[in-house]
Amino acid sequence: MTETIQITTPPPLLIVTDLDGTLLDHHTYSFEAARPALERCRAAAIPVVPNTSKTRAELIALRRQLDSSDPFIIENGSAICIPEQQIHLHADQASYDEGFVELPLGVPIDEVHKTLAPLRKDFQFEAFGDWSTEQILANTGLTAEEALAASQRRYSEALLWKDSDEKKREFIELLRQQGLHALQGGRFLSVLGAEADKGAALERLKQLYRPVLGDTPTVIALGDSHNDEAMLNAADIAVIIANPSGRTPQVEGPEVIYSKAAGPAGWNEVIQTLLDRFDVE
Ligand SMILES: [Mg+2]
Repeated sequence: MTETIQITTPPPLLIVTDLDGTLLDHHTYSFEAARPALERCRAAAIPVVPNTSKTRAELIALRRQLDSSDPFIIENGSAICIPEQQIHLHADQASYDEGFVELPLGVPIDEVHKTLAPLRKDFQFEAFGDWSTEQILANTGLTAEEALAASQRRYSEALLWKDSDEKKREFIELLRQQGLHALQGGRFLSVLGAEADKGAALERLKQLYRPVLGDTPTVIALGDSHNDEAMLNAADIAVIIANPSGRTPQVEGPEVIYSKAAGPAGWNEVIQTLLDRFDVE
């Protein structure tokens, strides 16, 4: 009798993840606790794409630590950066910059600054771009090297709001009328192009992966706060990482999973379970 060997091919999976408080620990920025799940993804060639408020310079440093060759999404959905080696993802693009093809969804930061300039006389705020390195260190708690990477913004400005909440609503409405939008993060109010959005960037990323993963990959998105909602709502499986200090994102996806642990430990716990479910070794 001939033995039948069953070869099971894992279904196409695409993982898209927030960083701070999700893949990275909220306080230490470590991803150590997620390493077992990350290594399983790498062995199975499942892309893990960061989708973050961080800048391109910050991501280039981080992906070296993660030993990642996957694309990444920067400045709250402002652009998708694809390593030039991943030729199958950007076949029709020809402009390389420091080894990456960058597909923008937002507007260049000069345009953001042009819109903000006349608003300064009516509203009280400080911008990241106004500060010296010393002031950035004092306002963020980053190291000098990290502060330099964080200040290399291409599409979004981070504001420290110094005015009333009512003035803030008025300010956000004025931005909206001029093709920009504002996102309130933990400490900063980010101002960026109206089309720049973590969810829109995920939709674009799915199109880019079509030649590799087909039309219907299962998209798993992970996030811990309300600025991840658009991304989580655009996924097939939304994973909400426990966030002891913030409001839980409101998501109505086909499937929503809540991690027990916070940060990278929660990331590891849920991704391991999902990899088991999809028969990934
Ligand atoms: Mg987060």
